[in-house]
Amino acid sequence: DLAVLDELTRLSNRRQFLQQIQQEMAEARRLNQSLALVIADLDHFKPINDRYGHLSGDQVLRAFTETVALALPANASAGRLGGEEFGFLLPDTGLIAAVEIANVWRSKAGAIQHQLRPASHEGDAKSETAAVTASFGVAVLQPNMQIPSDFLRVADFKLYEAKSAGRNRVCG
Ligand code: GH3
Ligand code: MG
Ligand code: MG
Repeated sequence: DLAVLDELTRLSNRRQFLQQIQQEMAEARRLNQSLALVIADLDHFKPINDRYGHLSGDQVLRAFTETVALALPANASAGRLGGEEFGFLLPDTGLIAAVEIANVWRSKAGAIQHQLRPASHEGDAKSETAAVTASFGVAVLQPNMQIPSDFLRVADFKLYEAKSAGRNRVCG
């Protein structure tokens, strides 16, 4: 499993997820179906690590992926693209439906009340409740996309739009 799964979240690792994109692109074309790719990136995650420490940051990453995984359609794939960035493939899903699904994930993830203890050097800090939102970029497969990075580039651009528009939102 270690060769294909991300250790922290048990989602596909980047390499495996890129392969899944390639397979789903081929399958969507064979079946003449649409295919949506969603990229999620946690908002202002670095300050969470800075205040609560890396282990608490890991706890937030796991809570995020568990929450989204529970709301994942049965035919979907999920992967960790790196750091606090995740990818989701939604077969047979158009842009409007994919944006709607991503908004459900966004709302569930943002509602988690993470219980985190500040990593102060005094040692006995009380735990605090923190919310962590995420931004999402959504793309659908286009005829001119040849390799996974063509597809990722568009979803990534949409993610960038969501970030610059203020975060905690879905752009597609
Ligand atoms: P933005 O809203 O623009 O995305 O801001 P950000 O703070 O989330 O983004 P930035 O890229 O500045 O910081 C990402 C942080 O994610 C920095 C890095 O320490 C942290 N990170 C990456 N991988 C891991 C991990 O596996 N565990 C933990 N705890 N932190 C991680
Ligand atoms: Mg981030
Ligand atoms: Mg990031």
